Amino acid sequence: MTSPVWHPFTQHGLGEPIPLVTHAQGAALHTADGRRIVDAISSWWVTTHGHNHPTIMAAIAEQAARLDQIIFAGWTHEPAETLARALVAMTPAPLVHVFFSDSGSTSVEVALKMALGFWANSGRPRDRILVMEHSYHGDTIGAMSVGARGVFNRAYAPLLFDVGTVPFPEPGREQETLDALEAHCRQAPAAFIVEPLILGAGGMRIYTPALLTEMRTICARHEVPFIADEVMTGWGRTGTLLACEQAGIVPDILCLSKGLTGGSLPLAVTLATPAIFEAHRSEDRARMFFHSSSYTANPIACAAANANLAVWRDEPVLERVADLGGRQQAQLDRLADHPAVRNARRIGTIAAFEIDAASTGYLSAAAPRLTAFCREKDVLLRPLGDTVYVMPPYCIDDDDLAKIYAVLGEYLETAR
Ligand SMILES: *Cc1c(COP(=O)(O)O)cnc(C)c1O
Repeated sequence: MTSPVWHPFTQHGLGEPIPLVTHAQGAALHTADGRRIVDAISSWWVTTHGHNHPTIMAAIAEQAARLDQIIFAGWTHEPAETLARALVAMTPAPLVHVFFSDSGSTSVEVALKMALGFWANSGRPRDRILVMEHSYHGDTIGAMSVGARGVFNRAYAPLLFDVGTVPFPEPGREQETLDALEAHCRQAPAAFIVEPLILGAGGMRIYTPALLTEMRTICARHEVPFIADEVMTGWGRTGTLLACEQAGIVPDILCLSKGLTGGSLPLAVTLATPAIFEAHRSEDRARMFFHSSSYTANPIACAAANANLAVWRDEPVLERVADLGGRQQAQLDRLADHPAVRNARRIGTIAAFEIDAASTGYLSAAAPRLTAFCREKDVLLRPLGDTVYVMPPYCIDDDDLAKIYAVLGEYLETAR
C-alpha cells in the first residue's frame, strides 16, 4: 500500500524507506517497528530542550482546553500579549514591536515587507535587498529570492527577484565582504538580511562576531535596515540566547522561529524597532502593515512559546548549552584526525565537518548514503551535501551523543 503523503525534500522515485514515528522523549524518537532513534539534528533544528518537554506539553493541553484560535486582526488574547511582552523584555531594548507569523519563511517575508513598507511609507521607496552568499532564509518565493540559488530553486528562478550579494567572509578575505557591503550600501538598498555567525542550510559556514559587528556598523552608517535571521541561531544554538549578542549588535528587524516553542508547534515572530513600526502607524489605513496569515499568533502555539520561556527562566538552559558544546567538541576532536574529515568546526551546540568526496554540492552522493547508513543504525542525521553536522537537543546524554559519533566513525571507515 503506497502512502498518499508527498514529503518535503524527498525524492519519492528512489523508494527510500520512510520510518513511521509514534512517540518521542528527550533526544529519542520511537518508531512503529519498535526502534529507538537518536535525534542528532533536533528534528530539523527545532527541538531545543528535548522532545515532549513536560512544561511545554502541559501548557499546550491547558491552553487547548481554553481557547483554540481567534482572528488576530483587531482582536487579541492573553498568551500572545504575555509572549510579546516577554520577548521584548528578553531581546535588546530597541526591539519593542512583535509581529506574529507561523514559520521561519513567513517571518522572513514579514521582515522584507516591513523594510519595503518602511521606505514606501517614508516617501523614499526602495526595493533592493542585500544578502550574503550561501544564505538560506526559507522556501517561499520571497525567502528563496534572498537565499542562495541552486538545484533546489532552479525551477522557480524566473519568479525570484534580483538581490545584491556580498561574498561569504572566508577566513583571510573578510575585507572583501565588508568592501562589497559598503559599495552596495551606497546604492540605497532597502535592507540587508543575514544569518548571524553561522549560515545553516548553506553549509554550516561560521564567521566571526567581529565581522557581524562591522557589517552592522556599515549598515547603520548608511541607514540601511539590518535584518537578523535568527530562525536557526536563536534560542541558544550558538551558545547564547541570540547569536547577535556575541557581536554586541542589535538589528532593526529580528526573525525568530524554530526554537520559539521549544520545537513543539509552528510559530514565528518578527521583532522591529520603533522606526520600522512608526513608519506604518498613521490615521491612514493605506499605510498599515498589510500582512496576515489565518493562524497568526495561534493561542495554543503562543502558550507553547510562553512555556518555552518559562523553561528558559526556570532551568539552567545556557549551562546545558555550554556543557553540550564542550561534549560536542570532545567528540569532534576524536573524529577530526580521520583522513576523510575536513574542516572540523563548532559553534555553540553545532558541530560540523566536510566529508572528503570527489563531488560536492547538495546532491553529493555522501549525503544520501550517510543518511541511509545512520537510519539503519538508529540515528537521525541528514547531511547538507558533503557537510555533516550534529545539532542535537540540549538534553542529549553522553551515551546518545557517543552513539552518533560512533556511527559517524563507522561510516568514515566504510567510506575509505
Ligand atoms: C529554517 C530556516 C528558515 C525557514 O524556516 P521554516 O520554518 O522552515 O520556514 C529561515 N531562515 C533560517 C536561517 C533557517 O534556518
